[in-house]
Amino acid sequence: MSDPSRPTRLPPQSTDAGERMQQYPPPETWDDWVEWDPGEWPRKVPRRYMLVPTVCFNCESACGLLGWVDKETMQVRKFEGNPAHPGSRGRNCAKGPATINQVNDPDRILYPLKRAGARGEGRWVRTSWKEALEDIGGRIRRALQEGRHDEVMYHVGRPGHDGLMEWILPAWGLDGHNSHTNICSAGARAGYAFWMGFDRPSPDHANAKVILLISSHLETGHYFNPHAQRIVEGQLAGAKLIVFDTRLSNTASRADRWISPWPGSEAAILLAIANHLVSTGRFDREFVRRWVNWEEYLRQVHPDRPVTFDSFVSVLKALYAKYTFDFAARESGVDAGVLEGIADDVAACGGRLAAHNWRSAAAGNLGGWQVARCLWFLSVLTGSIGVDGGTSANAWDKWVPRPHKLAPHVKRWNELTWPAEYPLSYFEMSFLLPHFLKEGRGKLDVYFTRVYNPMWTNPDGFTWLEVLRDESKIGLHVALTPTWNETAWWADYVLPMGHGSERHDLMSQETHAGQWIAFRQPVRRVALERLGKPVARTWEANPGQVWEETEFWVDLSWEIDPDGSLGIRQYFESPYRAGERITMDEYFGWMFENTVPGLPEAAAKEGLAPLAYMRKYGAFEIRAGAEPEFERSLSPEEVAAARVDEVTRILYTSSPAEPPRNIVPTPVPVPTELGRPIGVEIDGTAKFGFRTPSRKLEFYSPTVAEFGWPELAIPEYVRSHIHPDSVDRSANEFVLLSTYRLPTLIHTRSANAKWLVEISHSNPTWIHTSDAARLGVATGDLVRVSTEIGWFVDKVWVTEGIRPGVIACSHHLGRWRLAEGDGVSRLASALVELNESDGRWDLRQQKGVGPYESSDPDTSRIWWTDAGVHQNLTFPVQPDPVSGSHCWHQKVKVTRAESPDRYGDVRVDTNKSREVFRRWLALTRPPTGEWRRPHWMLRPFRPDREAYRRPRSVSGGAE
Ligand code: SF4
Repeated sequence: MSDPSRPTRLPPQSTDAGERMQQYPPPETWDDWVEWDPGEWPRKVPRRYMLVPTVCFNCESACGLLGWVDKETMQVRKFEGNPAHPGSRGRNCAKGPATINQVNDPDRILYPLKRAGARGEGRWVRTSWKEALEDIGGRIRRALQEGRHDEVMYHVGRPGHDGLMEWILPAWGLDGHNSHTNICSAGARAGYAFWMGFDRPSPDHANAKVILLISSHLETGHYFNPHAQRIVEGQLAGAKLIVFDTRLSNTASRADRWISPWPGSEAAILLAIANHLVSTGRFDREFVRRWVNWEEYLRQVHPDRPVTFDSFVSVLKALYAKYTFDFAARESGVDAGVLEGIADDVAACGGRLAAHNWRSAAAGNLGGWQVARCLWFLSVLTGSIGVDGGTSANAWDKWVPRPHKLAPHVKRWNELTWPAEYPLSYFEMSFLLPHFLKEGRGKLDVYFTRVYNPMWTNPDGFTWLEVLRDESKIGLHVALTPTWNETAWWADYVLPMGHGSERHDLMSQETHAGQWIAFRQPVRRVALERLGKPVARTWEANPGQVWEETEFWVDLSWEIDPDGSLGIRQYFESPYRAGERITMDEYFGWMFENTVPGLPEAAAKEGLAPLAYMRKYGAFEIRAGAEPEFERSLSPEEVAAARVDEVTRILYTSSPAEPPRNIVPTPVPVPTELGRPIGVEIDGTAKFGFRTPSRKLEFYSPTVAEFGWPELAIPEYVRSHIHPDSVDRSANEFVLLSTYRLPTLIHTRSANAKWLVEISHSNPTWIHTSDAARLGVATGDLVRVSTEIGWFVDKVWVTEGIRPGVIACSHHLGRWRLAEGDGVSRLASALVELNESDGRWDLRQQKGVGPYESSDPDTSRIWWTDAGVHQNLTFPVQPDPVSGSHCWHQKVKVTRAESPDRYGDVRVDTNKSREVFRRWLALTRPPTGEWRRPHWMLRPFRPDREAYRRPRSVSGGAE
């Protein structure tokens, strides 16, 4: 036995990564770990901890954390990395350990609250979970009984869980899911999906020879820490890092080659590289010949040509010959020789090109989805798909367990989220919701915003406000949130949901070449239960009455259907105890026992049940390394039972599909009269192939062509709405990049993390030295930045780290509150005055951040005053007509601030934003055929196939 009074932490001994892992407390010591108390230094006072693994909730990377529970007080004292987590491997960014700030935030919402005065008046009374469940559940029950299913909507910001709502909402019979995807990743998703069905890439940075990144925030946002550590590993092993980013980001600062192209020109550069690869023959001919749908392309688009690969290559050369380095240089402003050097790097990657695009370029521009499509083109041409050091589809590196009982696909189609104008959107047209409500396309009886702050995060926030305050448009607004936010101010219920250590969730992300699953746990509840103190509901163990959503939704579902007569309750009954309410141990335990490959066996080796294994380690590695699904050969039995299409060589079967064990969103190839497609013959061998209609990588997308955009069916360059020809720099017009992240912040929830806000609390406008000289401004001077619908006033930061003609402002700052007291974390928000007259809104900061007394003595030591500027309010909606993505980049005019402008001022005219909405809506091409949307493409909460059929009344051409 070791001496319990002595610390068990090992001293750092080595810089070797393998040994350094030993600095983490070994899992066998996690029940009782002793360290000197740092607060008692220099005295050596031992403290005993119980370490409980959980998962960070501060971005979607889902890194592992260990919650350190003081065994004397049973309070969580700190968070460190979980070394047993395969994605993060014990490492975190600043936001992971800052979870402790969120837990202890003196301004956090601790109890369920109900509106007391008029909506938006800011008066609240404490209510009970019981009353809230009865009221909300009863209202939903009435809506369902009266057939008003589309009036119930769940709108999510940061999901932070996998598979949960796929269990809940279909059980209620709703097509009522709404997301934040179209203000985030829709452009990138569409670009990838038209190639392969799956909508996300999974690069293997650690084993790459060339890493190519396009984004203004990449590796400070999505998969930040898991990707960042593997990019560094790749570089240490000799990989070349190439970054396209108009702004000098942290990632760009580490690059071997950084270019700063004009925003929106990225696809032109990528196609110039593609042209270089094709015209010089430095591409993987065999991979392209085997896996690209070139035969289909030639048959459909060039029926006069022989269907031979050589014929395709000559067409390819002709198609892209116009994308010379000189052309790309003119579009991007980057020297042609530099671009050629990058092309040579890509050509020399040897099939190990790890490439990633998310958000910025794809989310910034009209046609931005083609940036992702052109980037994947390079992965295809270099044969870098699904191999070590290459890039995979996300679904190959992700596993979402299927719960014990799922409702069938609903037979409904909600046109508030899936309107006729956007048949190819990825996904719900979420940011247009207030415009649709104003147009009278529908109304909402119960509207959940969940970890979502659309008034602040979305463009056109004042149009959101106009709808949120209108009870004829939104009958009951329920804000499920861990923190106060601008949107919650306009709620009827504010229900406190847990941070990363206060809830159960499953998560699996494509952080690298491999597959893992992680288990977020309510740390204090688990610690109490380890000590034999059972907890009936997680809110009993959390601070105040902060709850978790999984239990909340189960209880709400029972409230909606208490006697089971609506057919809902059955999905929330225990798989082990007939007719009883399912517990968290049963919900998660059943999945761990039945649907996670290898987990029961690994647990058995330690003499544990699968649930106990996951409670102990918090994560499980299902597979290491890349595994390309498409290369799997079909079994002789499958081949023998299949029929082969003579032309396409696609194999079909008449046998029904086996129920899948996971619910990773997956394309569903449409059956034909030959049966259900199961594979494709490649050089005489039956392979699984891709889950596209052709079972191949679709260089040519018949789907895009059939749904109205034949000219964009192949990788193409689309001139952005902020193309240089449309920006008059002599009139002080600029392009504003508004989407970049700070590595220390997230959207809303980091506002109550004091360490993070102390590091980052202002968002000055970056401006190039030459532009600053022309405008006559210096760092710290105020400028007015005018958009189509209004303007904001910000200070400038003069820098060489931005391209001339372009300015940039981070979207992480600019929080505000309308009153003292409840409303928004005081650590990070400005007190504002808000005035409106006929849609003309004025927001003016009255007071910045400052010290205040609270339960945390640190709040009296606040030294900063800045809360940043809320620029998103001044952006009109700009939906891309194909992907549905909001095109974030803005053409703006920059002038010196004029009297009486003050820092942080915002003015917006929502009448103008309405005009802009209509102008962009007019760009769409609604379908005229039989279907609302291609059935094979991904769609969250996919309804029954019949629901895809266009009703005769849908505008855009009736049969
Ligand atoms: S990258 Fe940072 S914020 Fe994101 S999950 Fe990991 S530790 Fe948390």
